[in-house]
Amino acid sequence: LAKNNGRNRYVIYDDQMGAAADKRSRTEAEIEVALDANQFELHYQPRLDLATGRIVAVEGLARWRHPERGLVPPDDFIPICEDTGLIHVLGRQVLEIGFAQAAAWHEAGYDVQLSLNISPRQFSDPHLLEMLEGFAARPGFPVHKIELEITESVLIGDQDGIAAKLKAITRMGYRISIDDFGTGYSNLSYISRFPLHCLKIDGSFISLLPGSGPIVRLILALAQQLDVTAVAEGVEEQAQFDWLKAHGCTQVQGYYVARPCPASELSALLDPATA
Ligand code: C2E
Ligand code: MG
Ligand code: MG
Ligand code: MG
Repeated sequence: LAKNNGRNRYVIYDDQMGAAADKRSRTEAEIEVALDANQFELHYQPRLDLATGRIVAVEGLARWRHPERGLVPPDDFIPICEDTGLIHVLGRQVLEIGFAQAAAWHEAGYDVQLSLNISPRQFSDPHLLEMLEGFAARPGFPVHKIELEITESVLIGDQDGIAAKLKAITRMGYRISIDDFGTGYSNLSYISRFPLHCLKIDGSFISLLPGSGPIVRLILALAQQLDVTAVAEGVEEQAQFDWLKAHGCTQVQGYYVARPCPASELSALLDPATA
């Protein structure tokens, strides 16, 4: 009986694995079609400067406007794109959309920085520098207003090669931010060797405040020592906001300030630079 049960379980497990693999390859095919049909868009989430109370930056977050399923979140397609290499196509589209929006805000006189997420596979793409160079060279393009968010995992590997790539990107005028800081590679020795402008403290630490206070204070002190902007992610409550303000965090991002929204809804929150 036990053997029988075991075999049945194995069969069920196998079916589930098969079903999951089927679903994934169906989604992969669907993503390819969606990329051709320009079904991907960006929503923008504000970053509030705690000293001035102004929205000084926004993060562009990918969304898939699926004809039947509605708005699909990135966790449902980024990992598949990353696994299959479709991230190179999606990544380029995201940069096109984001950079066009940044240029439009700049043109309209809004003084706002735009952060865009770069996945590990995208960062290792040998064509990335050429593409960033191409955007930076466009007349009137506000390259100094663009920040690229990478995760700690990007910084593992050939240290000299990574440092050279980051230097090339920052020399073009882009800013570099470490996303989900504190959740990745724990060796901090790299941090001072790379040109960085911003540390984004992962939301998992913020949701555990004030219990996680010692860790958050440590990251805030590190950011201050490195002279980079400290941004708290996933700020949902007034108490978290107040704690971060009292402890010298530079900027906050999270539902407490605003949820990600389409560009058309964002302009009401932005200050014209000329005002
Ligand atoms: P991330 O870059 O760390 O982005 C922050 C995520 O936290 C976003 O989820 C945002 O909507 C969510 N968030 C913001 N405030 C709060 C809050 O107060 N509470 C909670 N619980 N969540 C909050 P989203 O948009 O679902 O994106 C998830 C992840 O997908 C991103 O994490 C990023 O790693 C990835 N992603 C999004 N867009 C892109 C993209 O264009 N390219 C790449 N490579 N990755 C992307
Ligand atoms: Mg991010
Ligand atoms: Mg993050
Ligand atoms: Mg993340």
